[in-house]
Amino acid sequence: MNTLPALFEERMRKLLPEESEAFFAALQTEPPVSIRLNPGKPVPISRLFPDEQIGLPVSWCESAYYLKSRPVFTLDPCLHSGTYYVQEASSMFLYHIFGQILPAHPVRVLDLCAAPGGKSTLIASRLSSGSLLVANEVIRSRAGILKENMIKWGTSHVVVTNNDPADFHHLKGAFDIIVVDAPCSGEGMFRKDPGAIQEWNESNLQLCSERQQRILADIWPCLKPGGFLVYSTCTYNPGENEAILERLIRKYGARSIEIAPLFPGIVPGNSTAHCYHFYPHRIPGEGFFTGVVQKTEGEEFRAGKVRKNTKHPPPLLPGDIRAYIRTPEYYRPYAKDNIIGVIPEQHSEFIQLLEANLHILYQGCEIAEIINRKSKPLPSLALWQGLNKANCALLDTDRMTALTFLKKEDIPVPPKTAEWLLVTYHGQGLGWCKHLGNRLNNYYPKEWRIRMTIE
Ligand code: SAM
Repeated sequence: MNTLPALFEERMRKLLPEESEAFFAALQTEPPVSIRLNPGKPVPISRLFPDEQIGLPVSWCESAYYLKSRPVFTLDPCLHSGTYYVQEASSMFLYHIFGQILPAHPVRVLDLCAAPGGKSTLIASRLSSGSLLVANEVIRSRAGILKENMIKWGTSHVVVTNNDPADFHHLKGAFDIIVVDAPCSGEGMFRKDPGAIQEWNESNLQLCSERQQRILADIWPCLKPGGFLVYSTCTYNPGENEAILERLIRKYGARSIEIAPLFPGIVPGNSTAHCYHFYPHRIPGEGFFTGVVQKTEGEEFRAGKVRKNTKHPPPLLPGDIRAYIRTPEYYRPYAKDNIIGVIPEQHSEFIQLLEANLHILYQGCEIAEIINRKSKPLPSLALWQGLNKANCALLDTDRMTALTFLKKEDIPVPPKTAEWLLVTYHGQGLGWCKHLGNRLNNYYPKEWRIRMTIE
């Protein structure tokens, strides 16, 4: 590992007087590897990894496991089918937090700083299907990766947006829960990503803190009275952690929420606010900080009048597209250019409101593209949890064939039973092939294709 910045070392020795040697020693060890299974694409862990590689479950998150060594994830088709997500274990604590703050009724959740999508995929599976998640990322290129990961995860009660926090000002009181996993100085990533050490500098700490305050000031009005804001960072710097939560309480009258029960090794912060530190010498995970506050006052959400789009009423779903959808009555179709998609009916007005104010990259599930009045199923449909596989012609593959497909190369041609074949691996969709009689056209998106050599 690169040499740690002297100022960082000095601060950590003060913060952890008795434990600093154990802390620095932990930074010299290999970071643990952990994955979280997709409950909507159930494949038992024993089918995904050899027994000797599967470690203990992550104690604060359901269906999450440590792996004893790091596989070449790119060469596992199950990663590409969204059967699991590779996520650092400490940040999975959000699962436990949601267990405490999620009400029984459907909610609207905003994940404001969402790319690449670790927390958004977790939240999407944690919410009931009557809820809605808005996963937002301000940086365009990172928002594209977020969109890809959300499509692969395959939930359709999600809207992916690419906006600055200030762009949400039309949505006062709109969200029951807002997650701000803030951009930070990244000290908690020093072990996993040595590049974070190079990027660290003292003057940046103040800039990070100011940016965090700005983000929270912009988004606070969008939280509904009684709603919860989950704040987190991957740094140890008190100026970006405790100080930020204390300011929320002071400035906005927010109520600090205690998370209980805790798990052994998680360290409550030194603050008037309830907050929690994850240190690598205490728990198997990277450095992480989190705290939850509740809004006690503010504006209730008023949807206002959403102008009915009479020029473009929702399209009628052609029979072949409708047949792809397991519960069509739950969705409202939309048409955008020549793409037909669906969004959850019960959130359609809210999504229209988002459309009027934000830059939406993806909503619900894009089902098919209409070309010359014929429908071509889209990659997102293959990965969707709501796909009615009973109405698809399946081409189940072995690992090498699946990887060849994911490289967008030719795979063996089966006898023709249907025009469109859903390529699957371990029963989960990867994408589509079109049967042309003597060969298959591979419709895997070229921007997603594996570029690595297959072994
Ligand atoms: N929540 C993500 C996950 O679990 O996969 C990780 C988020 S990362 C810690 C912080 C994100 O905030 C980055 O994707 C970064 O691009 C974004 N960001 C950077 N500047 C921002 C700003 N001014 N406002 C909002 N988000 C910002």
